Amino acid sequence: MSFPTCDHLKENGVYCSSVALHNQRYCYFHLNARARRVQAARARLRGQSCRLQLPILDDMHAVRASLMQVLDAPHPSPTVSPNPLGSAGVGASTGKVA
Ligand SMILES: [Zn+2]
Repeated sequence: MSFPTCDHLKENGVYCSSVALHNQRYCYFHLNARARRVQAARARLRGQSCRLQLPILDDMHAVRASLMQVLDAPHPSPTVSPNPLGSAGVGASTGKVA
């Protein structure tokens, strides 16, 4: 039985190969990820914020989807100031910008 597979090319150079949605080129995950990226890009162009709709983190798929949303979301550039030690201004233990 033949079925179309997802056209998303992963960072490792291998295609996703999950079953593509009906009349779509991508699987459910990658079609949603692309739609969110387009929404974020449009919001960024308009200088608007983008509302995140994070799923409940009940499995690795949800964690991955949430991480992608946070990273793709339009946000102002973090303010990084030098710390007294002279290295990067991001706190190692808290992850907060100094
Ligand atoms: Zn896919």
